Amino acid sequence: MSRDPRYDILFEPIKLGPVTAKNRFYQVPHCSGMGHTKPHTAAAMRGSKAEGGWAVVSTEECEIHHTSDVSPYIEQRLWDDSDIPNHARMVDAVHAHGALAAIELAHNGLEASNLYSRSTIVGPSPGPVPGYNPVQAAGLTKKEIREVRQIYRAAAARAKKAGFDIIYVYSGHGLTLPTHFLSRKYNQRTDEYGGSLENRCRFLKEILEETIDEVRQEGCAIAVRISVDEPAGANQIRVSEESLAVIEMLAELPDLWDVNLSTWVNDSATSRFEPEGFQAQFIKGVKSLTSKPVVGVGRYTSPDTMVANIRGGVQDLIGAARPSIADPFLPKKIEEGRIDEIRECIGCNICVSGDFMMTPMRCTQNPTVGEEWRRGWHPEIIASAGSSDSVLIVGAGPAGLECALALGRRGYQVTLAEASSEFGGRVARESRLPGLATWRRVQDHRVLLLERMTNVNLYLESEMDASAICDFGAQRVVIATGAKWRNDGVGRDNNFPVSRGIQKAILTPDDIMNGVLPKGHVVIYDDDHYYMGGVIAEAIDEAGGYVTFITPAADVSHWTHNTLEQNRIQARLINLGIDIQTGTEIISVDEDGVEIGCVYTGFSTKHRVNKLVLVTSRIPNRSVYDSVCEDLEGLQDSAIKSVDCIGDCQVPGTIAAAVYAGHLWARELDESTAEHIETPFRREHAVVEPN
Ligand code: ADP
Ligand code: SF4
Repeated sequence: MSRDPRYDILFEPIKLGPVTAKNRFYQVPHCSGMGHTKPHTAAAMRGSKAEGGWAVVSTEECEIHHTSDVSPYIEQRLWDDSDIPNHARMVDAVHAHGALAAIELAHNGLEASNLYSRSTIVGPSPGPVPGYNPVQAAGLTKKEIREVRQIYRAAAARAKKAGFDIIYVYSGHGLTLPTHFLSRKYNQRTDEYGGSLENRCRFLKEILEETIDEVRQEGCAIAVRISVDEPAGANQIRVSEESLAVIEMLAELPDLWDVNLSTWVNDSATSRFEPEGFQAQFIKGVKSLTSKPVVGVGRYTSPDTMVANIRGGVQDLIGAARPSIADPFLPKKIEEGRIDEIRECIGCNICVSGDFMMTPMRCTQNPTVGEEWRRGWHPEIIASAGSSDSVLIVGAGPAGLECALALGRRGYQVTLAEASSEFGGRVARESRLPGLATWRRVQDHRVLLLERMTNVNLYLESEMDASAICDFGAQRVVIATGAKWRNDGVGRDNNFPVSRGIQKAILTPDDIMNGVLPKGHVVIYDDDHYYMGGVIAEAIDEAGGYVTFITPAADVSHWTHNTLEQNRIQARLINLGIDIQTGTEIISVDEDGVEIGCVYTGFSTKHRVNKLVLVTSRIPNRSVYDSVCEDLEGLQDSAIKSVDCIGDCQVPGTIAAAVYAGHLWARELDESTAEHIETPFRREHAVVEPN
């Protein structure tokens, strides 16, 4: 197949100063949780995007000095020449596929922790650093400003040495020194670096000019990354006249403007809060300020939206972080006329959580991300079947669907049996809750591809029990029957059941997803702490219930700090008028009502409630698995060689974990790694130098 001519514009080369991007697909800098501690992992991950057709592949932010140490977060590092080989590895992986490599050089100023380096934190003016760490920064003297400018110059030279084609001056997200100089909040200087906008912009202008002076002659393009809004907190995105004025002031200096929103919470908004292309409304004025190319982001996965954006004069290059993680081969699929095969990002930000948890990112849609080097997994290529065994998969949730898809690609004869009348399992059900519609892509993508496979048979309304499974005749059986929400209150806070005998009043998320929407006063007890409690609250509120939201945590949906959503969720529940009681646990539930207590003081009170929704934890649906295993023990001559349970049925977790479990099982079938006592993947090791 060849590409649809409507998308030709996406494949036009774009000149970026001394270099040329071969098309308009641009992987903007994004965190990966790999950074300087996992150089092989990072290089292979970035290389796979270059292979997938992205014209430019960037690093994450890269600390340029020990005074810019963001430990414990794992970003890139270019403090001195010893870091060059790590970067060269990534550059080589990107160049091997004809893409340009970009590096986002950053001095993090007030946002540096310097926890590892123990250096002094510096900013334009002395004062507390952002956030709640009881730490202050020193204001830079003019002599020190000259030194920091030298640091930028040296970093640019090193980046050139490592082979990068595009070198960023990073002034976005409120995260770097140039932004701190621009900010009226952090810059209270009275010399030529403070006061007027021109003065506050002086530092950015100087480092930009000096970076250009250092490396443009050497053939590198210079990009500036800047936010068009002022950091005003979640739910308050306002284009800043000052940011636009800065772009106008420096308009023709860089070779590329990379524009976005600050803070990261707004820039990487989830699909629960912002649709595809949401940044276009904010960045659309930038192109009128400069003749240089502009790149912007907005979770673009639809080539039609991309084309409309370019033709509408919003931007010149389609920037992407998350869409390139979910499908490193997105450009190739458009180029080859396979747009229905794009594995579209669902906007869940599980990838982002890797950065916060300082581990290599994972992705709900793409189980191979982060596994390119350590397991040798390619996002599009998978080994052929290692035997003629047939496989029966029971349950078509994310685990069963992904397992079937990967096995189908390997060429196995696969049967997927689903008890209900729809594919998707929890994804089908959860995507009907408020704000989660985009999550349906997990099932839609897989079902579409599975339906085309002649070696895969799909059956709905086919509940399987142990005898049906044993009679079926497949050599391999995979049980992916999922999990159900508990109705007894056992969760993270309560290890023992709290409810006694009022089951009529108790509901779980499964009941809500089955369409039971209670009216009157409803208490939601969230001891799960991810998204479910919050979306259930929205659903009940929407249906006319009056909600009290109780959680032992200090804020609602606490874990969603890791997906950049917590403050937006809290704001939404407050705006809906939901009564939020944090630091509160359920002690007991009986016929008279619910007893709740303060987690700090133990002070408790009793309340009558109409309904209580327990969002606590889930129990695996293992009965089918257990009975098959039991039956097999009594069978001498069964055709079944193995039976395994995967996904939520093995252990309830995220959708990403279920997809990964399905993929892993399929990859390992008939491979020597199937039974491992040894570590099943390669590890990165710190180099121990000889004494
Ligand atoms: P996971 O996240 O592990 O994929 P889900 O709960 O999303 O788990 O999906 C499990 C699927 O298995 C559901 O669609 C459910 O209807 C199906 N299922 C459960 N028990 C059976 C069974 N005995 N036979 C066939 N399908 C089943
Ligand atoms: Fe998109 Fe979610 Fe994957 Fe991140 S984890 S790339 S948001 S699908």
